[in-house]
Amino acid sequence: MKEILLLKEGEIALKGQNRSSFEDLLIKNAKRRLRALGPFSYFKAQSTIYVTPEDDGIDMDEAFEVAGRVFGVAAYCRACVVEKDYGAICEAAREYLAPALRAVKTFKVEAKRSDKSFPMRSPEICRELGGFLLESFPHLRVDVQNPDVVVIAEIRERGAYLHAGQLPGAGGIPVGSSGRAGLLISGGIDSPVAGYMMAKRGLELSAIHFESPPYTSERAREKVMALLQKLVPYCGRIKCYVVPFTKIQEEIRKNCPEDLFTIIMRRYMMRLSDRIAKEGGLSALVTGESLGQVASQTMLAMACTGAVTDLPIFRPVIGMDKNEIVAIARKIDTFETSILPYEDCCTVFTPRHPRTRPKLEMVEQAEQALQGGALVEEAFAATETVWIREL
Ligand code: ATP
Ligand code: MG
Repeated sequence: MKEILLLKEGEIALKGQNRSSFEDLLIKNAKRRLRALGPFSYFKAQSTIYVTPEDDGIDMDEAFEVAGRVFGVAAYCRACVVEKDYGAICEAAREYLAPALRAVKTFKVEAKRSDKSFPMRSPEICRELGGFLLESFPHLRVDVQNPDVVVIAEIRERGAYLHAGQLPGAGGIPVGSSGRAGLLISGGIDSPVAGYMMAKRGLELSAIHFESPPYTSERAREKVMALLQKLVPYCGRIKCYVVPFTKIQEEIRKNCPEDLFTIIMRRYMMRLSDRIAKEGGLSALVTGESLGQVASQTMLAMACTGAVTDLPIFRPVIGMDKNEIVAIARKIDTFETSILPYEDCCTVFTPRHPRTRPKLEMVEQAEQALQGGALVEEAFAATETVWIREL
């Protein structure tokens, strides 16, 4: 029996004039994610994208899982494709829907007939198919108000489709529909979650990672790449900029007061991110900062770090508690990787008493001891790029 995937559009169905460009982006993203599983064809009709496997060997369980991570899909389901013949529809319903119907007590049938040449009208299909299923599964009852399962029979130009029960999709809007931004990613728990959240709102992400060899190891870098790989099913392929940060950190340690060390370091991260963004066409920066979590995430500290760039900085976990962030990290399967114990450059030179209420003038004054512009240019010139692609 031939099966297809139905992806139901969420918010983008409300997009008015831009709607079709959102839909095209959704299809493009779905294609990219599913490509590795084999050939599929795509068509859209009435706020739904129909994804048809064009090869019998395609693993539809896996395709279903992949589709569940595509942003812009509000709900999704698998459906069987049937010849447009009432007898064939009944037979297919009995076989294909058996697992779903055996697991419940009540159901109802909904019919959608967009092919008006089909001889039965929708209410008649509902009544007849409902009666047929009651006979085939005698434990069932019809409940039109609050059924356990809604059996949907769609009669369309290209064929008839049967399905029962959809799951909530990944939600959000298609990746790329909001533009491109740079995600500052550490090896921690918060920044991958922040990336996931902003990709959900349509941002296509590039990643920016600061490393400080030999204080940070090759394994710390691999951990970040592993985290990005976990984001790819949601975000699509990601270009990662790896910035050598050792010299900047050493210069700060040598020349600046210890209590301002973290804040100055974070300002350099922002300066470099700004430099990369302007070179790479990124229109915003994303961080995993959460208000009050550590000394560098107080309001005044964030004012100091934000002062070195004119790009908007998105901090989607700013108002979340750690346990709320962890719940998302578990959901997107980054948590176990994030807690691997490799050093991040931030933890290499941590001051004993970081200032929690830094004053911008004081920080700017302390930075005078550094050859700031030259340090940024040198690190920028030595930045590597690595692509993290769909598997
Ligand atoms: P995370 O769990 O994301 O590491 P955190 O709670 O450890 O966050 P900080 O170390 O203060 O917090 O970092 C705050 C934010 O700064 C991170 O969420 C991330 O966006 C960015 N950041 C920190 N370290 C790095 C790094 N080595 N490379 C790139 N960005 C970084
Ligand atoms: Mg961190």
